[in-house]
Amino acid sequence: MKRIYDDERMLEAGFIGGTLSKDFGNARETEIAKKIFADLHLPEDKILGLKQEHTDTIISITTEAELSEYKKQAKHIADAWLIGLNNIGAMILTADCVPLFLWDESGKYIGLAHCGWRGIVKKLPQKLARLIKEKDKEAKLIAYIGPHIEKCCFEVKEDVASQFSPESIIKKEDKIFVDLTKEIVLQLMAEGVDPLKIKRGCHCTCTCCNEQDFFSYRRTKQKDGLMSFIYKIGR
Ligand SMILES: [Zn+2]
Repeated sequence: MKRIYDDERMLEAGFIGGTLSKDFGNARETEIAKKIFADLHLPEDKILGLKQEHTDTIISITTEAELSEYKKQAKHIADAWLIGLNNIGAMILTADCVPLFLWDESGKYIGLAHCGWRGIVKKLPQKLARLIKEKDKEAKLIAYIGPHIEKCCFEVKEDVASQFSPESIIKKEDKIFVDLTKEIVLQLMAEGVDPLKIKRGCHCTCTCCNEQDFFSYRRTKQKDGLMSFIYKIGR
């Protein structure tokens, strides 16, 4: 079983996290999600969930007050997290969409976003970066763009392509592909993130190409989900 993640840099800042390969099972199933947390020795009641709807809404849990507010509501429609309390974690599910991990070097905050093309067009990556910067002007951001459908496979029609920056569009013969990684990098750079501090995937972390490790909605048309999680241990 594989955890595709960014071990050292995350640990240095006092977090663990990553995207779990498909042999952990379909994390959309509650029982499987529970088993995953048990296998990772993480307390499941400390790992928060949300209902993803391709929004640009970010749930911020950086104070005890925000945590108790979160617990009061039964349903949370959102697509990203900002965690700033120790011993609290959060999860998202993806199958082709991008799991974006974004944190500050000093270890105060870590964000995790479910970025489908719709969320990216709504500038969710940029908004998450901005939110961290608002909380801490001095924050030096580090990003890890997790496994997702890469430019090799993300073919779209003109109506989708037209919503992206020209730099993120690849035209091959009569086909159009979007480079979601590129678009996220551009948005993070617009918030002052050093591109050298953004770790990216490649062909081997394309969810559509790499059948062995990932679920892909584009490949199978099935709604199996990979889990990405973060957990703030503090340092
Ligand atoms: Zn691919």
